[in-house]
Amino acid sequence: MSAKFGGATSGGSTFTSHKTFDIKDGTQRYRLLPSMKSLIASGTWAVFQREHFGYRATDRKDPTKTKIRTFLCIEKSNPKTKMVEVSCPECREIENKKQLRDDREKEIRDECKAKGILDSDKIEAIATKRLQDIDEWLKAHNLSKNWYVNVMTEDGEFGVLRMRHTAKQALDVRIEECRNRKMDPFAIGAGVFFEFKRSGKGRDTTYTVDVAMDMQEVNGQVAMMVKRGPLTEALGDKADAECPDLTSVGRKLSRDQIQLLVETNGDPAEVDAVFGLPDRVEKSPGANLGATQAAKPAPVAPAAAKPTPKPVEVVKFESAPGPEVTADDDEAALEAQMATLKAKMAAAKKPKAPAPAAPVLPQQQGRPRRPEPQRRRVPQGH
Ligand SMILES: [Zn+2]
Repeated sequence: MSAKFGGATSGGSTFTSHKTFDIKDGTQRYRLLPSMKSLIASGTWAVFQREHFGYRATDRKDPTKTKIRTFLCIEKSNPKTKMVEVSCPECREIENKKQLRDDREKEIRDECKAKGILDSDKIEAIATKRLQDIDEWLKAHNLSKNWYVNVMTEDGEFGVLRMRHTAKQALDVRIEECRNRKMDPFAIGAGVFFEFKRSGKGRDTTYTVDVAMDMQEVNGQVAMMVKRGPLTEALGDKADAECPDLTSVGRKLSRDQIQLLVETNGDPAEVDAVFGLPDRVEKSPGANLGATQAAKPAPVAPAAAKPTPKPVEVVKFESAPGPEVTADDDEAALEAQMATLKAKMAAAKKPKAPAPAAPVLPQQQGRPRRPEPQRRRVPQGH
């Protein structure tokens, strides 16, 4: 079984479905797994990913409902120059919305001033109401940054533990402490469970991590002892079958697909269509390298990161021997499909856009409009 975990090589199997655990309020215990699958060679046991939220697609299990479909951010910056080398359309969209919000807020304050409204609570209330739609959009379109680690639960379940960077930092401290005491928390036969605690809300959420301790009886004596999580042969097989290759966690979309998604304005049928497009980026495992390397653990300090990924727009897979023609054909087919989808989206939008009664800022077009009464509270001034 040692071949399933760090220290030996193994082909990265493709994996489609796995359990994801989140650290919730209270206490939970997980046994971290050593590096697995394609990450064995590098010994990497944790992968960092930035994931975009905010788009709802049809729920496959219940088509009468919608479900959030997330995708990985493709933005890449050069840590030295701070220049954006690969620009993510969704990140740009979020920036635009933030700018729009600032502009609108200023407008509202100017209007209030012009009308002699000086009570700051009143101004605040007006602003909150009129910024509600954009604030909701920004909240929904969260860019979530998390670490992913394969773990085992106390019940012998396997899956991926998703944790915030602050939780990972707390964990790293404990791992270091274990190692200083010559205890390897990952060891196949003698690894340990960690106890994760979450408390507080929002920005004040805090995480603490400790080595899990239990009352255990040894030679007739009861004592608090470290909770071990030995990985038997059978558990190793289960881990191999149920844990993903961490480099495949998260849906990868191409830049064009993300651009299309931004243009959907969130219509679930259109979101379905974009996610249903054949995915250039996912086709070859080799092609994912550029996307994952930067995100890989190379701990906190991005400056210390490994060879800076080239400023690539990713993905022309090199060297599949022979048929460049096929790659071009694929590309052409995909482009055709995207063009069709774009045309469909444009056609669908036309009848939907009756000239609005109230003036709408350019970037707002196509966004669900808030009920008019709010607007009337503070008539548009100049
Ligand atoms: Zn992004």
